[in-house]
Amino acid sequence: MHIFKNMNILSSYPLGNVTSFKCGGRADFYVEPNEMCELINLLNLHKNKKLFILGNGTNTLCPDEGYHGLVIKTTRLNKIEILEENDVFSLVKCECGTSLFDLNDFLANNSLSGFEFSYGIPATVGGALIMNSGAFGDCVGNFVESVEIFKNSEITTVYKNQIFFDYRKSSLKDCVVLNATFKFNKGNKVDILKKQKFILEKRNKLQPLNYPSAGSIFLKENGISPSKIIDNLGLKGTKIGGAEISCKHAGFIINSGGATATDILNLISLIESEVLNKKGLKLKKELIVMQ
Ligand SMILES: Cc1cc2nc3c(=O)[nH]c(=O)nc-3n(C[C@H](O)[C@H](O)[C@H](O)COP(=O)(O)OP(=O)(O)OC[C@H]3O[C@@H](n4cnc5c(N)ncnc54)[C@H](O)[C@@H]3O)c2cc1C
Repeated sequence: MHIFKNMNILSSYPLGNVTSFKCGGRADFYVEPNEMCELINLLNLHKNKKLFILGNGTNTLCPDEGYHGLVIKTTRLNKIEILEENDVFSLVKCECGTSLFDLNDFLANNSLSGFEFSYGIPATVGGALIMNSGAFGDCVGNFVESVEIFKNSEITTVYKNQIFFDYRKSSLKDCVVLNATFKFNKGNKVDILKKQKFILEKRNKLQPLNYPSAGSIFLKENGISPSKIIDNLGLKGTKIGGAEISCKHAGFIINSGGATATDILNLISLIESEVLNKKGLKLKKELIVMQ
């Protein structure tokens, strides 16, 4: 471990500590900036070096061989503020490491509605924008007004009409998201809290939340749900080492205890070949595998 300005850059850091699968290899170097200016300094200093921006690590797996570069985790950058408000809507600015749980709590406290669908997605704002996270027919991109990004060594602001969002993808993919401004309509606090509770209960019923996972592993293709296909093939409960296809939700792989990243990747390959051989479909991964 050595000191870099006010930040500790750790070496050989086990990424299982900070990714939701709770397994995987080590990062050669790892840091959690405390302030936005620290993140920007790091990005400037490491612009020609290999780096990975990690949010909450809930869609990311590090192979057992590790990541040979710098991992920057953003979750300490979590300020939320109201930039502008009137009787109809508010513009809310969030730093990239803000969790969607905190954002939802902030919105409920300020009687801002519409974003309840995202309650329970364990994402940061940065990760949610890169993945255009969504649930129950809505997605994070629908609420964006502007995003401040770091790209090609410059900080710029891109506005909603300049950003392309589609199902689990966005044109922000090659940028570092620094801050985002969202527009939320005024609503009723009691209704918002009720809806959040309803959404969370629905997730609890549908998803294996008592085991480490990274949510759905595969993307829907032309509206076809991978979990239905995997279920129809009778693959629920299939195990490789500690990695298991969830019996509750066939789209999830869980770490049922002691899984390695290799177990998870081998189980993913098994699903891919079963689906290709028996259904003629080529599944695409939603999971980001660090490389
Ligand atoms: C139990 C569970 C339930 C889930 N349910 C859903 C769901 O309903 N809907 C859904 O869409 N997803 C769901 N997910 C998946 C996951 O939460 C989302 O993909 C989420 O957007 C990932 O956010 P994150 O902050 O954890 O990103 P990470 O996993 O940390 O990163 C994901 C990608 O974003 C990049 N990234 C992160 N922050 C930044 C930044 N500031 N700038 C640039 N790049 C960045 C990373 O480099 C990586 O490529 C679920 C996951 C779990 C574990």
